[in-house]
Amino acid sequence: MALAKDDIHNALAKVMSPDGKPLTETGTLSDFVVTDGKVFFSITVDAGAVKQWVPIRARAEAAARAVPGVNSVMVALTAERLGAPSRSASGPGQGAEPQRRPQAPAQGARPRQGGAPTHAPAGIPGVEAIIAVASGKGGVGKSTTAVNLALALHDLGLKAGILDADIYGPSMPRLLAIREKPETIGGTRLKPIMRHGMPVMSIGFLVEEETPMIWRGPMVMSALTQMLREVEWGELDVMVVDMPPGTGDAQLTMAQQVPLKGAVIVSTPQDLALIDARRGIAMFRRVNVPVLGIVENMSTFICPHCGGRSDIFGHGGARNEAERLGVPFLGEIPLDLAIRENSDAGRPVVAAAPDGPHAQCYRDIAARVRDGLQTASRPAPKIVIEA
Ligand code: ADP
Repeated sequence: MALAKDDIHNALAKVMSPDGKPLTETGTLSDFVVTDGKVFFSITVDAGAVKQWVPIRARAEAAARAVPGVNSVMVALTAERLGAPSRSASGPGQGAEPQRRPQAPAQGARPRQGGAPTHAPAGIPGVEAIIAVASGKGGVGKSTTAVNLALALHDLGLKAGILDADIYGPSMPRLLAIREKPETIGGTRLKPIMRHGMPVMSIGFLVEEETPMIWRGPMVMSALTQMLREVEWGELDVMVVDMPPGTGDAQLTMAQQVPLKGAVIVSTPQDLALIDARRGIAMFRRVNVPVLGIVENMSTFICPHCGGRSDIFGHGGARNEAERLGVPFLGEIPLDLAIRENSDAGRPVVAAAPDGPHAQCYRDIAARVRDGLQTASRPAPKIVIEA
């Protein structure tokens, strides 16, 4: 049975806002997507009224879930600052999806043309630092690096967590062999999945991997907001965010909307990948996120038979590029079958072989990231001029 938007609309009309109006008449609903039994929408309210709306969000989610044919529902409650331009509300009963280009939602900081954002997004309570692991293009080993970096930070004694924000190809379900869905707590918050002592949340837990979704800018942000702010992350020293590859609108939106303390860029050594890495660095600089450094992945090939080394893609390109661009070089990871095999088996190499040379490589990189974060958050020295 095809799921009609009107059915959802009728269900939501029975949910009342804090001042007793049917939800569908409040102008707070937007970003409606109904596809394949999945329902997705946002409720955008004034920042000052968010608390009153938390139970409404839960009721709206429950009402939508009760509609026959609905398998999963994702409702993001987002706060709009007073006086900010309101975004267009397109309720489910209001016809077809507006065909918009991906764009940043109105409630957040938007970079001025070519400049820095007007304000930094609010932090996540209990989370000390959030870092992005990014790459200029796909397939360079960004997700592999993200998960092993998080495990290595954990090995160094930090409380680490992983947020898989790669909307185009969430990898954490595969990399960490996670097949279960996160439980909800009190109908409003999600419990992350625990792996290797770390909380993990992935967009792949919320939408099926096999059914690609067409992501529009506001949806990206709503999903991300939900994963950042409506998940019981607990106390974390560092949250590692696996970003979508590339430097397009969705990536820029994320880079400016997530309260990032820093970014790690993953690149392979060859020139082409480095051009993309340079774009990544430029993107983070544009939104005032410190680049903690570059990791050269698939650096040297180690032959599984003879142990010989060959520089298939060249070697040292990322180190030279980092120097040229004035960003730290964090280290290199060899191209090794063991890394790929362990990853595909759902056991990242740092967890599978903690005493091996690869785990050590990742721990060295993690130590540099940890030190970089300390430098990034240290206040500038006070200059006292003595008379
Ligand atoms: P991305 O997130 O950049 O798309 P992935 O982390 O998914 O890339 O990696 C792409 C593929 O390359 C995966 O099959 C992964 O196991 C493999 N891979 C990543 N890094 C290495 C490495 N250093 N050595 C061998 N294989 C690797």
